[in-house]
Amino acid sequence: MYTSEEIARLKELDRALIWHPFTQMKEYVAEDAPIIAAGEGCYLIDIYGRRYLDGVSSLWVTVHGHRVAAIDLAIQEQLGRIAHSTLLGLGNIPSILLAEKLVSLAPLGLKKVFYSDNGSTGVEIALKIAFQYWRNTGQPQKKRFLSFYNAYHGDTLGAVGAGGIELFHHIYGPLVVSSLKVPSAYCYRCPYGDAGTEDCRRDCFGAVARTIEAHAPELAAVIIEPLIQGAAGMLTWPPGYLRHLREICDAYDVLLIADEVATGFGRTGKLFACEHEGVSPDLMVVAKGITGGYLPLSATLTTERIYEAFYADYAELKTFFHGHTYTGNPLACAAALANLRLFKEVKLIEKLQPKIARLQELLVGFWDLPHVGDIRQAGFMVGVELVKDKETKEPFPLARRTGRRVILKAREKGVIIRPLGDVVVLMPPLAISEEELSHLCEVVAVSIREAA
Ligand code: PLP
Repeated sequence: MYTSEEIARLKELDRALIWHPFTQMKEYVAEDAPIIAAGEGCYLIDIYGRRYLDGVSSLWVTVHGHRVAAIDLAIQEQLGRIAHSTLLGLGNIPSILLAEKLVSLAPLGLKKVFYSDNGSTGVEIALKIAFQYWRNTGQPQKKRFLSFYNAYHGDTLGAVGAGGIELFHHIYGPLVVSSLKVPSAYCYRCPYGDAGTEDCRRDCFGAVARTIEAHAPELAAVIIEPLIQGAAGMLTWPPGYLRHLREICDAYDVLLIADEVATGFGRTGKLFACEHEGVSPDLMVVAKGITGGYLPLSATLTTERIYEAFYADYAELKTFFHGHTYTGNPLACAAALANLRLFKEVKLIEKLQPKIARLQELLVGFWDLPHVGDIRQAGFMVGVELVKDKETKEPFPLARRTGRRVILKAREKGVIIRPLGDVVVLMPPLAISEEELSHLCEVVAVSIREAA
């Protein structure tokens, strides 16, 4: 392993040089965060050789675990050929084979693949394609987007404009083109005050329908995280919401963008969250789990109809003028191909079902824990909302940081998780064993009790 001098130097350099994402550095430099040196299965191993269960899949990406022989080998084999060549005007083999695979797996009608490097740029591409689609087809007035409060679509400016999380997005308001927004289904704090009543569906479904109807002539697209809003704290949509949205979009000729960056590749128990409602979007963005947590890659898939609107003589200026340097990187595509092959070989989705049920059972015990106000789950996406007062649902004051205290307690016990405010998130690798799953829940429950 590492000598004490090496460890001290690494820690010092980390604190001195690296500005960590979504992190208040004043807190980071004062604490002793692990520096990860290796991984194995569902575990991360730090520079001291300490093992931590990876309870959030290294930010929602790990599928089969760390250091999976088949994915390691695929990357090594690709390295023996070429690490990178541009997709601007050239092809490369892994990106072609991956596109074939993605189209075969994606919801019906998604036939074209545009690559980039991460979820945010995948979303930018979807927004820009939708915007330009209407220009290319002679309806330039259709240029606005509709999204949802509590939405998270990434940190680039287009994605921030579609975002609806006050804490992350408000400050950048003057910098972005904000979308129209409709309340999302935060049932625990229902925006209409009628969650679970007979009026619940009417209010929730009606709001989006009315807004689309009122703005259809100027609307390019609606963007939604299907089934569950992840970064908002795991807010699940009521059953039928996505199908309802598809129907309204069809009725008013508005494109539907499904942001499957978090939900894609098995996270919710099906390969894509859209499958739960039999919905095919016009554009679908995937990233995170696409390479099984190995390399940065995203893909924005779309239909023949949209692609055709860009297919013209150059002089018509209908080209999609967008592309990132590492678009369709061969190493990342090779990793994704190996990852997706494994899905079939190890029957991942099939084997996931009893684990999802087990997780649901384990979570029942959480209701009795102090300060647990709500528990939300869609497959292997879980949010446990902690509140100061269970009766009144009063949140903890910002200074209390209970979610953060829970994750620090869990870390002491060998489990890495990351909260979203005071929502404790569990997103284990899909290949986690039932034993590891029980251990994860046990440690998190104890940590909630200790932190409360
Ligand atoms: N869209 C959704 C639904 C996400 O959850 C995320 C990231 O968490 C993104 C987009 C942005 O992806 P990335 O962090 O890869 O840019």
